[in-house]
Amino acid sequence: MNQQQHAQEARHVAPEVLLVINDKDEITHLVCCRDRSWEIGFCGAETGHVNLHAEIICSMCIEVVGPKALEQNICPVDDRPCPAGEEFDRLIRERTWG
Ligand SMILES: [Zn+2]
Ligand SMILES: [Zn+2]
Repeated sequence: MNQQQHAQEARHVAPEVLLVINDKDEITHLVCCRDRSWEIGFCGAETGHVNLHAEIICSMCIEVVGPKALEQNICPVDDRPCPAGEEFDRLIRERTWG
């Protein structure tokens, strides 16, 4: 799947600003780092916020993204390494509040 198709599949046109939470007990859904919106997880569930302290990952999301994404931090959408370090911090700052 290329970037353009991926963007078209995102349900929202503009990125939303989401609340950050730190909840290790929440069942957390996975989103693509480069998604225009982080509101819908890979399994189709609405996330509604960003959990930076996730320990329990939704099993349906894991099935969708596969082991490579989780073990090697490779994006399941475009097969490139997911942003880390400063780029990741910047994405979080841009997309969240609180
Ligand atoms: Zn999920
Ligand atoms: Zn990604």
